[in-house]
Amino acid sequence: MNIHTIDLKFFTPQTIAAYLVESDSELALIESGPDSVFNNLLSGIHDLGFDPRNIRKVLVTHVHLDHAGAAWHFGEMGATVFVHQNGARHLADPAKLLASAGKIYMNRMDELWGTMKAIPEARLHPTQDGEEIEVGNTKIRVLDTQGHASHHNSYLIEGSIFTGDVGGVRIKGGPVLPPTPAPDINVEVWLESIEKIRKARPAAIYPTHFGRSTDVERYLGELQDRLLRWTDWIGEKLRENKGDSAISSEFESYILADLKQSGTNPDLIEEYKNADPFWMNAPGLIRYWNKYRLQQ
Ligand SMILES: [Zn+2]
Repeated sequence: MNIHTIDLKFFTPQTIAAYLVESDSELALIESGPDSVFNNLLSGIHDLGFDPRNIRKVLVTHVHLDHAGAAWHFGEMGATVFVHQNGARHLADPAKLLASAGKIYMNRMDELWGTMKAIPEARLHPTQDGEEIEVGNTKIRVLDTQGHASHHNSYLIEGSIFTGDVGGVRIKGGPVLPPTPAPDINVEVWLESIEKIRKARPAAIYPTHFGRSTDVERYLGELQDRLLRWTDWIGEKLRENKGDSAISSEFESYILADLKQSGTNPDLIEEYKNADPFWMNAPGLIRYWNKYRLQQ
């Protein structure tokens, strides 16, 4: 079994990855990236010496556009797309997903994400927790890992775990950040998912943003600490009755300071912004507090 990392070159290098799993000459793809960089994915597959039409299984960690936006192309080529059971309906009919993304990204939708077409239900496979997916003689185990989104899986392959966004963002060995966009951040559920990843005892962790890390304990500890610290920070500001937009802009500066303090250089900070736009993080945590923690 081989794992190949494909850099989708989304604005900056090492921002969005797709992972090609090769076993007994069968191929599966983990994450499709967005349609806007689909050509980069195709040339990455060709450069490795493979034909994209031979990819029979595409596994997406969740349905956000930077992870699953181009999966429909593989459906058109006859592949089966594996997706969390809570996310399957959004791939079968992406209208709602696109409408809510449109409210956030407005006139930048095309430039950022390209187009997203419906995947026929016959080409979709909604997954169950613990299910095993075969690729050649390799088994891929599905782990239901919600918290970043209510439709999020991680995939465990022989000690390597592919964690989408629930396993945080780490670029070029920098700090591990929890991406917390609206609308379905649930911190307690997220912490349970981190524990589930830990219990799977992976030797290597592969977030979609970006690449392989082998210091798994340290990595997950840092993710958990930062998730708790960010959540507390937002909770304090809400208790001070600051307005949402004031909190959001203050939080952007807080994240910047957090990264600088961790020794992240300015170029790398820009790359982090492409993978996890800082302005998107406060709204997700504010929504979480209002929904689960604050008495109305
Ligand atoms: Zn993402």
